Amino acid sequence: MTQRENGASGLGGVAYLERAAMRNAFGLIVASVVAAIAIAGVWYWTSAPRADAAPPKTMAARPAEVSPVKRAAQDDVETTASLQSRFAALTAAPAAATPAQKACANPDALGVSRVVEIDTTGGPGFGFEHFKQLDFLEPKEVVLTFDDGPWPGNTPAVLKALDDECTKAVFFPIGKHATYHPEILRQVLAAGHTVGAHTWSHANLNGKKITDQIARDEVEKGFSAVKFALGTDPAPFFRFPQLEHNPQAMTYLGSRNVAMFSCDLDSFDFRKDSNPDKIVNTVMTKLDKLGKGIILMHDFQKNTALALPTLLQRLKAGGYRVVQMKAKTQFSTLPEYDEALAKDLKLPTVSARPVSSVVKTVAR
Ligand SMILES: [Zn+2]
Repeated sequence: MTQRENGASGLGGVAYLERAAMRNAFGLIVASVVAAIAIAGVWYWTSAPRADAAPPKTMAARPAEVSPVKRAAQDDVETTASLQSRFAALTAAPAAATPAQKACANPDALGVSRVVEIDTTGGPGFGFEHFKQLDFLEPKEVVLTFDDGPWPGNTPAVLKALDDECTKAVFFPIGKHATYHPEILRQVLAAGHTVGAHTWSHANLNGKKITDQIARDEVEKGFSAVKFALGTDPAPFFRFPQLEHNPQAMTYLGSRNVAMFSCDLDSFDFRKDSNPDKIVNTVMTKLDKLGKGIILMHDFQKNTALALPTLLQRLKAGGYRVVQMKAKTQFSTLPEYDEALAKDLKLPTVSARPVSSVVKTVAR
């Protein structure tokens, strides 16, 4: 406020009020014009043909919290498949088909029935063995998840089985394994699957010697290793090794906006007495009882790779449908952990970028 305007209550008050009135009149005109533009904008938004269909979803900020997440399940899970099909319908070009439709050569494939996008704000939890708040799966819907990869032989075999059925899964790789076999993890991402993280060294974060700092290091370095392998940010999806949910680590993950994954049913494919038939029977028996759920498997395990073609066919025959879970936004690694990893791997500390992010084939 200027000195002259401060005198409005004194002798100069009338002149000031006149000026104020003129400003008000001018303001009214400006306001009318703005309102007209806004109305036209709203008309255009709602009436004009658009390819991107729905307006962007407003995301309410909420404080960092672990479970229980006191929001309705559907708030965090936005179905994107319907948007994709609307987009496809509005654009004549066949290229608008979803990647799953484009790639699938198998007319009887299990496929993907629904794609859900997860808002990981505050660290929501999934999988009824530990998190019972977000009941988003419909009857007969399943989510396929694979831990502990990437691993030569087994992970590529799992990828082939999924590809043969044109279906998608969520992978939780171990950080160390990602640095041993980055090329395999890149194949996982290239095939269209969702890639989260499963700690750096598969430490039990509820272990006696695990301090808060060690737990934090395991989480962050795990994500940095996955990012290093992929050449891009992972999904902010995390699974605790052995499903050992350390409360402090859960709070930390919530503050980093990372969704936590337990499961609804464990395939027990890691057990010593496991074999492909047992895995198929365990999963199908539990599923038929529960009716739906997130299935825990391991692409690290040979028996899982061997069981998967049969299991996927049994799922299809049983009327089950696969839901793919994707993240609304990707995980942002912390630079100090990227740098620590680069040092571990004896990479140039200036740039930890993998070859794929520096050299890209653009023509052959
Ligand atoms: Zn594991």
